[in-house]
Amino acid sequence: MIHVFAAIVGTFRALARKCPVCKRTQLVPVSSKGKTVSCKFCGSDVPPPSKEK
Ligand SMILES: [Zn+2]
Repeated sequence: MIHVFAAIVGTFRALARKCPVCKRTQLVPVSSKGKTVSCKFCGSDVPPPSKEK
């Protein structure tokens, strides 16, 4: 499992996004950039950064 995480960090094909509810940072796939995703920790909707508009 550790090498999977290292691969994510190494290529950085994901974006960090902070959940507004639980304040935890998670990686969102580049394919989900601009989309609302579910927080992997609490299940809340995490909207994309408003500055992308
Ligand atoms: Zn959350």
